[in-house]
Amino acid sequence: MPARVRWHARWVVPVATPPVAEGTVITEGAHIVWVGERAFAPAGGHDEELGDAILTPGLVNTHTHLDLTMLRGALDGLGFFDWVRTVTAIGTEVLGDEDFAAAASLGVAEGLAGGVTTFADTAPREAAFEAMRAMGVRGIAFREVFGPDARHCASALATLRDQMASMRPRESPLVRVGVSPHAPYSVSDELFAAVGGFAAAERFPLAVHIAESEEEQQLVVSGTGRFAEFLRGRDIPVVPRGHEPLEIIERAGLLRAHTLLIHGVHVGDAALPRVAASGCGVAHCPASNARLGHGIAPVRALLKAGARVGLGSDSMASNDRMDLLEEARLASLQQRSKLRSPEALPAKTAFRLATLGGAEALRMDEDIGSLEVGKQADLAVFHVPPQGSPVTDPLHALVFGPRPRTDRVLVAGVERVRDGVVLGADPAWALRAADAAERVKRWRAQRSPG
Ligand SMILES: [Zn+2]
Repeated sequence: MPARVRWHARWVVPVATPPVAEGTVITEGAHIVWVGERAFAPAGGHDEELGDAILTPGLVNTHTHLDLTMLRGALDGLGFFDWVRTVTAIGTEVLGDEDFAAAASLGVAEGLAGGVTTFADTAPREAAFEAMRAMGVRGIAFREVFGPDARHCASALATLRDQMASMRPRESPLVRVGVSPHAPYSVSDELFAAVGGFAAAERFPLAVHIAESEEEQQLVVSGTGRFAEFLRGRDIPVVPRGHEPLEIIERAGLLRAHTLLIHGVHVGDAALPRVAASGCGVAHCPASNARLGHGIAPVRALLKAGARVGLGSDSMASNDRMDLLEEARLASLQQRSKLRSPEALPAKTAFRLATLGGAEALRMDEDIGSLEVGKQADLAVFHVPPQGSPVTDPLHALVFGPRPRTDRVLVAGVERVRDGVVLGADPAWALRAADAAERVKRWRAQRSPG
């Protein structure tokens, strides 16, 4: 792109301020230098006429497992314990590095095609980190660590230290690394505390799957259920660990700024102010939570309490599309349904979750999430056909209207999608992912004949 570009659109949605009809955003290199009505836009620079389009900040996906994109549709209908065990077994028994690399690249491409410019990914491997770097998107690659047996805490931490020492030098201005003690059913209290201490000392951001399922709740509160049986079967002692899952990470010192709480479906009313006061982000995954039958997170209550909440697609093993506009729509509809109020979560709030809310949850809101002077030029351009869907309120159109085509996407001023085409995408990724999906299907058929 030329150094200075004036982007003119039918609508500009800055998010932090009201939508602007016939608006203009001016970018200079990686930054936004002007936002407002076209009639008042300062002269100079190259003009890009976007036409019947809504220009917004790039969308922020606060929870992905990009390297599992080949599992789209593969595990529908399984209960959570079986789902977790099957995903884990597939990861070790069926798939290899080339599969994960292709799936991660495909995942980034799918996100870009839907206007996502920032990804917060969690994974026990580097494929997503490398894919994000290679494709020029913004993100955090949280390296997952597992260890439900406290006796193996020291070795798990030592391995994590080595992994982070290897990944950190490859951080880029756009892609950083973080750590993620996976979840209460896969991480001991000792390992939570140890990883928390490591992250604080090394200044790594943290992410934890927490308060996601009924099964996790059972394990934590009463030491019963499928996870408890499984752990006892491996000679790991199981005792009740608190009144709710959040207590575990609170006790381990992880309820603090720069920790991303993934899911947070089962967060009790009494804990809401503590989540808000902690400065933790919350990655709300409405489609994934619904598809796995977990329930509906208390999003409006979290927002009312002042928590930093964003939206996540989660992996394609529990959601069949990476579409943050759809997540925004679901988030709004679910809260309205849960609270029996059409005012529970307006389109404006839902779209904020997909942009500035996500940026706040990831503590990246100084740089991204809204169209404001000084912020990064992460832009998404959604084409709205003039016929059939009159746009009087662009926020309502984005969240509830027919899915708009993504015309253009820029990350830090660099074009990554043009005319709906993800630049640099390789058709071989989809072929490899399809091959992996076939192998997964055969493996599952062999394990459960009939
Ligand atoms: Zn997840």
